[in-house]
Amino acid sequence: MRKKRRHRRHLSWKQRQIRIYTCFIVVAGAACILMAAGAKKSDLSERLSRLTHKNIVNKAVEPMEQNISHMPAGTLITNYRYQEFGASDPNEIDVNAPMIALTFDDGPNPDSTKRILKVLSENYSHATFFVVGTNAAQYPETLQEIAASGCEIGNHTNNHKNLTKITDAEISEQIDSVNRSVKKATGEQTTVIRPPYGAFDDHVLGMLSEPVVLWDLDTEDWSSRNAAEIVEHVMDNVKDGDIVLMHDIYDSTAEAVEIMVPKLKERGFLIMSVSEMAKYKGKTLELNKAYGKISVEEE
Ligand code: ZN
Repeated sequence: MRKKRRHRRHLSWKQRQIRIYTCFIVVAGAACILMAAGAKKSDLSERLSRLTHKNIVNKAVEPMEQNISHMPAGTLITNYRYQEFGASDPNEIDVNAPMIALTFDDGPNPDSTKRILKVLSENYSHATFFVVGTNAAQYPETLQEIAASGCEIGNHTNNHKNLTKITDAEISEQIDSVNRSVKKATGEQTTVIRPPYGAFDDHVLGMLSEPVVLWDLDTEDWSSRNAAEIVEHVMDNVKDGDIVLMHDIYDSTAEAVEIMVPKLKERGFLIMSVSEMAKYKGKTLELNKAYGKISVEEE
């Protein structure tokens, strides 16, 4: 037994010697290659510094750091292109990626709306803000910031009237006064209308000069005023084409959006304005129609 064990140890030592020689040969070979490359040293170090440059690494690595296991094929590239090009060209967008429109009513508010704009901008995302005329007239700078960020401004009437309960002249004035404030601040009119309380009938629909946008995912943020609850409700229920209803006049909603937007991006969602989502889904928002979601299959 003893002899055999010694014999094994002896063999093992031989193996180790072989390994040491092999290592030496490999190291020597590598040294030779490096010396040969010495002539191109500046070129090599330039490439190395370029590879380790913060921006390059971030661009190359950021999408890979996301949890890609549940991302549909193509979304990874879409996110990269979206970040690179700011979603300006429909050809750069993977129209098969899941999309979502976050919408905010009753603002603008100089504090909470700005917080929301910041996190959207940091995540290369857009939203739609349905402003009321009273706040729009009071906070023109916030309206300008919404427009400058590439977000969409919608009309939510001058002072939150139920359009089914007022005269035709009052309906027109409720819509027009918002447009006057928005045009004065940004140079543009609103593009979509959301009637307060989602209240409209065929007569109201026939009077409005912009498509009506409702919602299909209600966060009830005005009721809970709880960021964690809002985030949980959205993350548990969100699906492709959803229009999410929130209100940018509460700190709790701003906090929820700060948490929710990176989570939605991580899940592969493109976060867009309602009109952008319609465009990228090949839909035209039509007059005298109301949209609760943007889906390719059904109206
Ligand atoms: Zn409202």
